Amino acid sequence: DRRALDAMAATLSDRDIDIVRIGYPDLIGTERGRDLLVGRFARTAQDGVAFCRTVYGTTPGGDLLEIEQGLSAGLPDVIAVPDVATVRDLPWEPGVAHCIADIFNPDGTPAEESPRAVLKRMVAVFAELGMRSTVGPELEFFLLEREEASSTGWRRYGEATGNVYVTGRKGDPENLLLRALRGLDGYGLDVVAANHEFCSGQFEINMWHSEALDAADRAFRFKTAIKELARQEDKLATFMAKPFDDEGGSGFHLHFSTVAEDGRPLFDDPAGEHGLSKIAQSAIAGVLAHAPALTALANPTINSYKRFGPDSLAPWRIDWGLDNRSAMVRIPPERGHATRLELRLGDATANPYLVIAGLLGAAYLGIRDGLSVPAPLEGYGYDSAEADLLPQDLGAALDALAADTDFAELLGPRFVSTFLAYKRNELERFSRSVTDWEFREYAYHL
Ligand code: GLU
Ligand code: MG
Ligand code: MG
Repeated sequence: DRRALDAMAATLSDRDIDIVRIGYPDLIGTERGRDLLVGRFARTAQDGVAFCRTVYGTTPGGDLLEIEQGLSAGLPDVIAVPDVATVRDLPWEPGVAHCIADIFNPDGTPAEESPRAVLKRMVAVFAELGMRSTVGPELEFFLLEREEASSTGWRRYGEATGNVYVTGRKGDPENLLLRALRGLDGYGLDVVAANHEFCSGQFEINMWHSEALDAADRAFRFKTAIKELARQEDKLATFMAKPFDDEGGSGFHLHFSTVAEDGRPLFDDPAGEHGLSKIAQSAIAGVLAHAPALTALANPTINSYKRFGPDSLAPWRIDWGLDNRSAMVRIPPERGHATRLELRLGDATANPYLVIAGLLGAAYLGIRDGLSVPAPLEGYGYDSAEADLLPQDLGAALDALAADTDFAELLGPRFVSTFLAYKRNELERFSRSVTDWEFREYAYHL
């Protein structure tokens, strides 16, 4: 109510906060929003603030695409209503607090294409089964520093002496990772650990697990925060799936399990095969069964598919394995409360809300339909020809999403059609763009 909101605005002012940045994810997970003077925050939190619906049809370059209820409908409104439970001070921007918003239609119903609404629907279907879902996100990214001579204007940060698990200045000469870890901690993201990854200039930060919506909110804030922190150091943090020809990609692994309303872990069963409950086995089977469609959400860019491949530590086939990092779904060795699956499919470009919603949706369908799992992968998965390949490009993944009617129905037809329209336009724009590779391949010799 209004009095509680006014009281909240007053406590913000008492902490010398004069601006609240409200932000919400667009389809590709970029933050969109507005900076509000704190004196206006209570009114906005009550009534919402209008944005143009084409926020869901606007590309990173600012082009407007036709989506449902977009250009042809006369660019109508959507309403962003701050979720006041998500207010956090931005430690690196003194005087500013951040609040995540939910997006509604002008008639007050949730905007179905809003990624946070898609995830809330998946949380609700699990709640109907008497289950809550727990998610722990791990995000990898590259840090880049300026380089005039390079064609992009950037090169990998560091002295090329960094590789996996090296600590300290050898891989991070300016101690950027330490500052990022502290900055994210001060922002309440419940980060646990930070490490150097396999490629020089590549890092990973792990977050503790929590309920799916909170985990997605934290991963969403994480991506914006890392980019902001890097900018403050005149660096570029990129979550691009595969930014370099000759280096590995950046994953967005998700640890996932379900618990009963009373907190009892539902994936654990000491008497079950591999110590896994029937629910866990069906959840894994659902993820395998819906993997081609899930790929569209977990690997949503043209570049994403260049990360897949043998020997990449990213998956290549639709398979699962016991503590096996070459599989798409890995079951870490811990059992009891820590019994969980690790989905290694997603890359860091995925919209956190959508990849988590897709994971929940696929697992839910497996549980609902009582699916059973095939035998787990043995050995090194890249060599095995037994399991199907993942979709090998974005077009194939989008077709799989369109074809998987159970999965698309569950996520929401309006969301799926808007997502497909946006992403098919991306493919079309790319098909008309001449790349550096084409120039090198054709310009001199042909
Ligand atoms: N970078 C790998 C990926 O793209 C993952 C490496 C790891 O297991 O940490 O998924
Ligand atoms: Mg990693
Ligand atoms: Mg991992």
